[in-house]
Amino acid sequence: MKFLLTNDDGIHTPGLLALKQELSKLGKVYPVAPDRPRSATGHSITLHKPLRAIPVTLADGSSAWASNGTPSDCVVLGLSDLIGCKPDMVVSGINPGPNLGEDLTYSGTVSAAMEGTILGVPSFAISVAGQEVTDFAPAARFAVRLAKAVAAHHLPPYTFLNVNVPAVAEEEIRGSVITRQARRKYKGRLEKRIDPRGMEYYWLGGELLNEGSLTGTDVEAIQQNCISITPVHLDLTQHEFLEEMKAWDI
Ligand code: MN
Repeated sequence: MKFLLTNDDGIHTPGLLALKQELSKLGKVYPVAPDRPRSATGHSITLHKPLRAIPVTLADGSSAWASNGTPSDCVVLGLSDLIGCKPDMVVSGINPGPNLGEDLTYSGTVSAAMEGTILGVPSFAISVAGQEVTDFAPAARFAVRLAKAVAAHHLPPYTFLNVNVPAVAEEEIRGSVITRQARRKYKGRLEKRIDPRGMEYYWLGGELLNEGSLTGTDVEAIQQNCISITPVHLDLTQHEFLEEMKAWDI
């Protein structure tokens, strides 16, 4: 098998290296990732400046490409030119930090899997759902299992997988579950502060607030120390409301 590997944290990050080393057991891995942290850049692409990719050497001595572009740019660069073949899968991660609920709409990790999907390659994004992640090995090993399953089965068109692995010791992980995306948002999101020169500035953050039932969601799976796998569709249409809205007679 051949893999295009990317992330939103930068080419020289431990999550990418752990994933690269495990996936290498299944075949050839081509890492193409941003040359700097690009977390929470969503599905942005570079249109108004030159996009570059330079060969780099990873900590294990293997070859990779670093790009000044976004995670989505890296997928386009990799698939269209750099790796010189069509990979069987695009894998994005391993992200240190959760990509649950509304995080999906902000996540560069997830958006890279979206880009792979749009370009017709089966894709998944994988994150460890903890704040200070030191051990990527359990998630990397799970990625191998999942890659085998994706290859053996079939992802429908315009569908990719968003995976979150609980940040606990491997023996504490209670299997994997197929989940839906939770609804949660950030409360008290914007903090206004004063800088040392007396000027106001803002800082985004806030606490997470779950909305609605968590049953069957990615958030619930992580709370229960299960690996969460959410099949995500790229069609954002609200199909039920579409029918109702036809009666509006605008
Ligand atoms: Mn990240």
